[in-house]
Amino acid sequence: MKIYNTLSRTKEEFVPVQEGKVSMYVCGPTVYNLIHIGNARPMIIFDTVRRYMEYKGYDVNYVSNFTDVDDKIIAKAIAEGVSASEISEKYIAECKKDMEGMNVKPATTHPLATQEIDGMIKMIRTLIDKGYAYVVEDGTVYYRTRKFTEYGKLSKKNIDDLEAGKRIAVEEQKEDALDFVLWKPKKEGEPYWESPWCQGRPGWHIECSVMAKKYLGDEIDIHAGGEDLIFPHHENEIAQSEAANGKPFAKYWMHNGFLNIDNRKMSKSLGNFFTVRDISEKYDLQVLRFFMLSAHYRSPLNFSADLMEASRHGLERIVTAAERLRELTASAAEGQITEQERTLLEEAEGFVKKFEAAMEDDFNTADGVAAIFELVKFINSNGKAEQTKAFLAELEKRLALMCDIMGIITEKKERGLDKEIEALIAERQAARKEKNFARADEIRDQLLAQGIVLEDTREGVKWKRV
Ligand code: AMP
Ligand code: ZN
Repeated sequence: MKIYNTLSRTKEEFVPVQEGKVSMYVCGPTVYNLIHIGNARPMIIFDTVRRYMEYKGYDVNYVSNFTDVDDKIIAKAIAEGVSASEISEKYIAECKKDMEGMNVKPATTHPLATQEIDGMIKMIRTLIDKGYAYVVEDGTVYYRTRKFTEYGKLSKKNIDDLEAGKRIAVEEQKEDALDFVLWKPKKEGEPYWESPWCQGRPGWHIECSVMAKKYLGDEIDIHAGGEDLIFPHHENEIAQSEAANGKPFAKYWMHNGFLNIDNRKMSKSLGNFFTVRDISEKYDLQVLRFFMLSAHYRSPLNFSADLMEASRHGLERIVTAAERLRELTASAAEGQITEQERTLLEEAEGFVKKFEAAMEDDFNTADGVAAIFELVKFINSNGKAEQTKAFLAELEKRLALMCDIMGIITEKKERGLDKEIEALIAERQAARKEKNFARADEIRDQLLAQGIVLEDTREGVKWKRV
């Protein structure tokens, strides 16, 4: 398996630190708002990487943090007259709902910055003891960037060029413009913790170094996030962890490209900003997931209504094929796989191999999706009612294998939107029982407006999309 490593700027063969195990740390969102579709990209991509690793038999320890103390959280808390933790708890819960909708598996651990302050104080102390950090008069602790001679190795920045663009602000007491904050004193009204230096709170970068060490160890396999994190966040994490632990930090650094909207940077001020929740009002979030996987993770990806429509159609094709195959299998005759079916299965296996080859090549999900479509086409022309149950089940297994790795749910009843439809159908049945035909008709019309047609059959109410 090859992974493009930002550290070497090349595709490297994946060799885990410990045989059979994969430790992954993915920088998570700062929780002061509903997550936007840009934040969803690393969640979906690295969840897919995890699923593929698990498919390969690795025991994956996946850690993704929530940054729950930060200027933006505090500002929002002050504006709304509530505590910072009320804001962060609310948006963590909302984020988890969005993750579920996108079929992103919960991490092995989702640590919170505010729960890891002791570890941060300990690491900062070690950095001070080793001469990599210093305390100034007001109790701020800075990292002594120039002391870490490899600074810039991830972002390929030259320390002198960086220096040239920086000035020390008058109010700062740091030794060098490149030094960054590890701990800072509280301001009035802000949450704070006791520390040996002052009552205050940590800088942003230290939390990830500490959580990665605590939950995954000093040396980890994969550290990931969006490409905006390469500098300074990940560069600073390397400086902190390698100086404190005296060991190389992450073996492979993976970064996803940015998501743009209509070929422009997504931003609130441009008015082209979507939350995952906005999208969920129009689409099943599975469509968003499928859309994200249709491009290579390192490429920039443009979000547009047309591309979402194309993704909806594509996903529908896969789901329909899977549904049809399930129905065929259920009613097919038992019996030995025939010689002709065996030949067909070899062909079907070829698509799985293609899919695996795409994933082994730095998780080329775009080619992976293409392999799924090839299998779908093959199923549509070769899956027939007269075939044996065993053969059809084998086809089903191959399609399910690829869909599971991509996190695509092909069973209609399991999908979020479908749950809502089924709840409405149940409500309509209840209304009819109570002879509330007005409500029953209203529900029928509401579903029709969503393109759902109901059919009353002997086995109960069935529905389909038109
Ligand atoms: P943040 O909450 O800004 O720290 O972001 C959380 C994660 O989302 C990080 O891995 C970011 O790199 C990633 N991210 C933020 N915006 C985008 C975007 N427009 N496209 C892709 N990834 C993004
Ligand atoms: Zn981080």
